[in-house]
Amino acid sequence: MAALLSVHDLCYTYHTPKADTPALADISFSVEKGEFVSIVGPSGCGKSTLLSLVAGLAIPDQGHITLHTQASHPVGYMFQRDHLLEWRSIFSNACLGLEIRGAMNDKNQENVRQMLRQYGLGDFMEHRPSQLSGGMRQRAALVRTLALQPELLLLDEPFSALDYQTRITVADEIWQILRQSGKTAVLVTHDISEAISLGDRVMVLSARPGRIMYDIRTDFGPDRTPLSVRSHPAFQTYFQQIWQAMVQMEGVDHHGKS
Ligand code: ADP
Ligand code: MG
Repeated sequence: MAALLSVHDLCYTYHTPKADTPALADISFSVEKGEFVSIVGPSGCGKSTLLSLVAGLAIPDQGHITLHTQASHPVGYMFQRDHLLEWRSIFSNACLGLEIRGAMNDKNQENVRQMLRQYGLGDFMEHRPSQLSGGMRQRAALVRTLALQPELLLLDEPFSALDYQTRITVADEIWQILRQSGKTAVLVTHDISEAISLGDRVMVLSARPGRIMYDIRTDFGPDRTPLSVRSHPAFQTYFQQIWQAMVQMEGVDHHGKS
């Protein structure tokens, strides 16, 4: 399989008048087309910084990031908060990216309608965000991201604001959507179980400055879904391996909180 994203020797430091904060050091990895990669690490280890660099929102101090794609909008971003605008309808929120990029043509709008219907929001297109559940709002945010047809999705703890049960269901739904549409995804999270359940591969970042300490490929067979792998016998084995890697690192206490 061809690499869609290659990251080579990446380093990044925040400079403020008071201090220099090294956020990432010596990060190298690549992501193949169609792969779902989870990156897990303690709070403050540089996960959001890494995604900002990949999205081109910040420039690395050192190293290279290469996206092997011809797509006009190669990268889409999903955040912890859905950032839906209350004064707009769900349809109009889902079209926001198209509007900003000047791509509001009939074909793209019809594509948005079709995705909203497909993802269970067909009856809610004219509703306001506050009338929807947290899970529906995250699906609407996903449609807004997918409307620009990105090849690579960057997911920055997109389920963290949801309550536990909703988080597991919405993660499963969003994973299925991305898998069916053949998207490549990089998810960052501080939740080990979430990282294992969603990722074909899990990378572990150390405390700041984040370095890749561990990179394992999970194997749950071809019928895996995020929900089903949680009760797979191998799940606990992966959990223990990653847990051990994380407790050996600074900044994680023995209750797994960071
Ligand atoms: P994570 O997403 O893993 O929680 P971040 O990438 O947000 O971590 O931040 C990594 C480190 O860089 C943190 O220690 C944070 O305090 C620091 N940091 C983040 N943004 C800034 C900024 N704008 N200026 C200075 N330091 C920052
Ligand atoms: Mg973050």
